[in-house]
Amino acid sequence: MADLTMSVRYIKGVGEKTAAAFARLHIHTVEDLLRHFPRAYEDWSQVVRIAEAPLGEQCCVRATVLTDVQTNFIRKGMTLFKFTASDGKSGMQVTLFNNKYLANRIKRGREYLFFGTVTNGYARYEMASPLIEEVSGAARIHPIYRQTEGLSTRIIAKTTEKALPLLATATDILPPDMIARYGLCTAAYAYQNIHFPRDREALAAARRRLVFEELLLLQLGLLRLKGRTRAVAGTPVREDGSEAFWALLPFEPTGAQRRAVADCVRDMQSGVPMSRLVQGDVGSGKTAVAAGVAYTAIQNGGQAAMMAPTEILAEQHAKTLEKLLGPAGIRVGRLTGSMPAAEKRAVREGLADGTVQFAVGTHALISDGVEFQHLGLVITDEQHRFGVAQRARLAEKGENPHLLVMSATPIPRTLALIIYGDLDVSVLDELPPGRQPIATFAVDSGKRARAYGYVKKHLDEGHQAYVVCPLVEEGEDGSDLAAATELVEELRGGVLAGYRVALLHGRMKGAEKEAVMAAFSQGEVDVLVSTTVIEVGVDVPNAVIMVIENADRFGLAQLHQLRGRVGRGEYASTCILISDAQNEEARRRLTVMCKTTDGFRIADEDLQLRGPGDFFGNRQHGLPQLNIADLMSDAALLGAARSAAEDLLREDPLLIDEAHRLLAAAVERLFQRVGDGGMN
Ligand code: ADP
Ligand code: MG
Repeated sequence: MADLTMSVRYIKGVGEKTAAAFARLHIHTVEDLLRHFPRAYEDWSQVVRIAEAPLGEQCCVRATVLTDVQTNFIRKGMTLFKFTASDGKSGMQVTLFNNKYLANRIKRGREYLFFGTVTNGYARYEMASPLIEEVSGAARIHPIYRQTEGLSTRIIAKTTEKALPLLATATDILPPDMIARYGLCTAAYAYQNIHFPRDREALAAARRRLVFEELLLLQLGLLRLKGRTRAVAGTPVREDGSEAFWALLPFEPTGAQRRAVADCVRDMQSGVPMSRLVQGDVGSGKTAVAAGVAYTAIQNGGQAAMMAPTEILAEQHAKTLEKLLGPAGIRVGRLTGSMPAAEKRAVREGLADGTVQFAVGTHALISDGVEFQHLGLVITDEQHRFGVAQRARLAEKGENPHLLVMSATPIPRTLALIIYGDLDVSVLDELPPGRQPIATFAVDSGKRARAYGYVKKHLDEGHQAYVVCPLVEEGEDGSDLAAATELVEELRGGVLAGYRVALLHGRMKGAEKEAVMAAFSQGEVDVLVSTTVIEVGVDVPNAVIMVIENADRFGLAQLHQLRGRVGRGEYASTCILISDAQNEEARRRLTVMCKTTDGFRIADEDLQLRGPGDFFGNRQHGLPQLNIADLMSDAALLGAARSAAEDLLREDPLLIDEAHRLLAAAVERLFQRVGDGGMN
C-alpha cells in the first residue's frame, strides 16, 4: 500500500528548495499536497460567444485570427502585440504585453481558444493578455492553486499530477458501504478530479465526496466529544426548583424562557451531564434562564459557575444574580482579574468550602488557584468568545458537571449544528412582552448636529444615551483612543454641554471601568461615550438612544450586538448610524441594519456579505478550519454527514473496527490540529 505520509521530497522533481517552498504552504507530505485543493479553476471546457462573455469574469472563447500580429514598441522594455480574432459573429482585439514567445506562435487564419476577460471597448470587444491554446489539445478545466514565492500554480499542478497515482493503491478512508449508500465517488476518483477535472460533472462529484468526508470527520469528532461526557452526572438533580425560582423573578417569564429552563432541568434529571446551548437574540432574557437553571442545580446541592467574556459583563451579572438569588439564601461571589487580592482570596475560600454557591466571573474562574467544593453546573455566557477548550477547563473543576452555554445567536441555524454539534439546543424565539422596536437610521456626517439634537431630546425626557466609536484594540497605536477622547471633549464643550458625559474604553483599569459603568446604570451619567467594550450583554434599560460613529467600520454582527444595548425596556428606542462610506458593501450593511432587527436575518446577511470562510476564519469557536466544505451551500450534505456519523458510532462507538481505522486516525488528526490552534 502506498504511504501518503511520506515527504513530498520523494516525488520526482521535488528538491530541497521546492520542498522548502511547499513547507511555506504547510505542505510536507504527499497527503498534504493532495489535500491542497485548487482555489479556483480555469474552465476551458465551456466556450462562450464573444458577445455573450460574462462581464468582468474570466471565460473561454473560441475564435479565428483574422489579421497578422502587429508589433508596437511602446518604449524600452515594453512591446505590445495586437491582432483581431472573430468567432464568426463578433470580432475582438487581442493584446499581448511583451509576450513575444506567445505572439510568434499565433498564425493568421488559425482557430484558438482564448482564456481571459472580455471587455467592451469603445467600439469593439477586447481581450488583454489572455491565455491562448490550440483548439485540439485543450478544452479542459485547469486548476489554480494558492501559490507562494518560488512555487507557481504550474509547478504545484505538475507535482500533484505525479503524486496522484500513489492513491490508486491506497485504501479509501470511507467504508465501501457508506460510499454506496450516499452515492459518493471513490477517493482516487475524487482526488484525481478535484485537481484535474475531466468535466464539470466530474468536478461536482469529486467536490461532493470530499465535502462529505470533511463534514463526516467533523461530526464524528464532535459526537465523540459528546459521548465522553455521557458519564454519570456529578450533581444528579431530583428536585425541580423552577416554580420557586419563577416566583423570585420580578417579571413573568416568557414561554420561551420557561421551555428553555424546563429543557435544562430535564437534562439535569436524566442522570448524565447536561450539555445544552441556549440560543437567543440580544434582549431575549438569557440571564434569567441561566439564573433559573443555577437555582435548581444549587437547590440540589451543587455549586454553579458562570463565565462571562468581559469584566463589565461579569460585574453586571454578579449584581443581577445577587439581587435575584440573595433573598433565597444563595451566596453569589464575583471573581475577576482586576479585583483586589484580598477580595479574590475571600471568594476563593468561599468556593472551596462551599459557603459561596454561585461564582460569577471572567477567565479568572479557570485559573489554577480556584477550587470548588462541589461544582455541579458550568455556564458560559456569549459562548462565541470562548473556545471549546476554555469551556472544558472550567468543567474540569467539577466532576462531570452540567454544562450550559448561552449564545446571542448571530449564528444561522444551519451552522449551529456544526459549531455546537456536541450540544443540544434550546432557542429563545420570543422577546419579553412590551418591547418597542428599535428605529434605525443611517445618516452622513452632514446630519451629525441633527442626530445629537435628537439625542438631547431624549436626555431631556430623563433617558440616557450611548455614543459608540470604533475600536480601541490592544496593540493599536492609540489614535482611535485619541479619537474617542476627542469626541468626549467635543461633545462636552459643544452640543452636549451641560449634560453628564463619561468615557469608557478597553484600556481602562477594571475598577475604573466598573465605576463608570456603575455610574451609568445608576443614572448618574447621561451619555456614555464608549468603544466596543459595551458590545456584549450590557443591560441598562433606561438607555434608549445610541449613536454609532463611523458605523461602516463595524461588521454586521457587531452592529447588531451594539444596537442590542438599547430597546431593552418598555421605551421606544433609536439607533443612529453615522457614516460617510461610499463603498457598496458598507452601504449594504447599513441598509440591512435599518431594515431589520431580527438577529437571524442579520446573521444570514452577514454570512452572505463576508462569506463563511471569514466567519469561521477567526477560529474563536475553537473548531478546525474547513478545507473544502462551504457551510452555506453544503448545508444539505451536512445533514447526510451527520446521520452517517451517527450510524457509524452506533455500530462502532470507539471506531476500533479495522474498517474504521483510517477514519479514526483522520478524526484524531483533525482535532489534533485544533489543539495546536484554537483549543489551548
Ligand atoms: P440577553 O438575552 O441579551 O442576555 P438579558 O438577560 O440581559 O438579555 O435581558 C434583557 C432585559 O430584559 C433585562 O433587563 C431583563 O431584566 C429583561 N427581561 C428578561 N426576561 C424578561 C421577561 N420575561 N419579562 C420582562 N423583562 C425581562
Ligand atoms: Mg446577556
